[in-house]
Amino acid sequence: VLRNPAEPEFHQAVLEVLDSLAPVIAKHPEYKEAKLLERICEPERQIIFRVPWVDDSGTVQINRGFRVEFNSALGPYKGGLRFHPSVNLGVVKFLGFEQIFKNSLSGMPIGGGKGGSDFDPKGRSDNEIMRFCQSFMTELYRHIGEYTDVPAGDIGVGAREIGFLFGQYKRLTNRYESGVLTGKGLGWGGARVRKEATGYGTVYFVREMLAAQGSDLEGKDVVVSGSGNVAIYAMEKVQQFGGRVIACSDSSGYVYDPAGIDVGLVRQIKETERGRISDYAARRQNGSDYVRGASIWELSCQVALPCATQNEVTGGDAKALIRNGVLAVAEGANMPCTPDAVKLFRDAGILFGPAKAANAGGVATSALEMQQNASRDSWSFDYSEHRLKDIMIEIHRSCFETAEEYGRPGDYVFGANTTGFCRVADAMLAFGVI
Ligand code: NDP
Repeated sequence: VLRNPAEPEFHQAVLEVLDSLAPVIAKHPEYKEAKLLERICEPERQIIFRVPWVDDSGTVQINRGFRVEFNSALGPYKGGLRFHPSVNLGVVKFLGFEQIFKNSLSGMPIGGGKGGSDFDPKGRSDNEIMRFCQSFMTELYRHIGEYTDVPAGDIGVGAREIGFLFGQYKRLTNRYESGVLTGKGLGWGGARVRKEATGYGTVYFVREMLAAQGSDLEGKDVVVSGSGNVAIYAMEKVQQFGGRVIACSDSSGYVYDPAGIDVGLVRQIKETERGRISDYAARRQNGSDYVRGASIWELSCQVALPCATQNEVTGGDAKALIRNGVLAVAEGANMPCTPDAVKLFRDAGILFGPAKAANAGGVATSALEMQQNASRDSWSFDYSEHRLKDIMIEIHRSCFETAEEYGRPGDYVFGANTTGFCRVADAMLAFGVI
């Protein structure tokens, strides 16, 4: 805490991982000797930079840009860029730290990193977004590359932003280096299923957790928070598996639709019109309700998928979910459940899929995009989804079996942290003290 003041999210993420590792360190004294815990908590490199740009009224705006290159033991730094006013160094470090273990768990050859800016894209014109992205990349380009650091999207950064960022990178470097960014458009190096991958992957993970208990998603009521990239495709996949999504949200409120959320309408409002979820009820006209400012977790459901943002499920929310009979919770977003909430779920024996495992399908599919770029290939939707599905089944299996091996059956938090950590730690040991 003294070494990294005023970074509560980073402290929370580190404590959560360290909390799992005591039995691992006891079993592997060589990790302790090599001070791997201390080394893994220290980013390899942190870059903070000024992002000046001019808005549509001609006013100069200044934002702050970040890229934390956390760990490259398993491959080039890999992790998204977040554009949101809440972004600061502590938030980027929390996300980058989580990313190390998630990427390791995915089984792909990628290290961990994260970046972003406190720029708020809400209400900005396409031209403002473009000028901001160009200025951001004018500094970032010198730090990234397909063998060095490969950013992607996150909150506030989708295909439009990746397009502007890639265009500026190409212009500055005079290189058509497709593998430098992932989440690209399908016409210029993007991968099929990348857009769907995080949400789909989360649902594949839930399905595996339920299957391990002899259950499935058929006929279950599911609540999904958020209505962005992760939430939309989680809802789509739940419905394909026979579940009923009764609610989704944005930061202003949630919509409850007892007939089951019309995902096509949500996509129209959020992806095409860039509107608000409050528009949904008025457009749907089937008695669905928009509720402003209340917690979506008060709704009764068997499966809860927080897919919006960090610390959105509090201890109080967890109590309400448990009281209402939730069977499984999987984190589509990064660290959406507070430590209190996670403890309550685990103590109550609720199936709990932590973000590192449950939302790793996104970054795994980004690694598949890098593979396609490296071989100048382009895979079909079905083949790509098949790869994603196999990866999620494998992530589930490794978490499940590691938890059993250490006498903690069903503890996916322990299984994910331990599996993810050991792969990185073994590579770091092999490289010596660097
Ligand atoms: P988007 O920007 O596409 O969507 C975020 C959604 O969450 C929006 O609907 C937003 O609403 C909503 N939201 C934000 N804050 C709150 C809040 N306090 N309460 C309720 N809703 C809120 O982002 P993504 O879907 O890409 O990312 C969501 C989460 O998933 C993040 O934690 C991200 O790090 C994580 N993630 C994303 C991956 C990806 O591939 N996209 C990969 C792995 C993890 P509003 O419009 O009102 O802000």
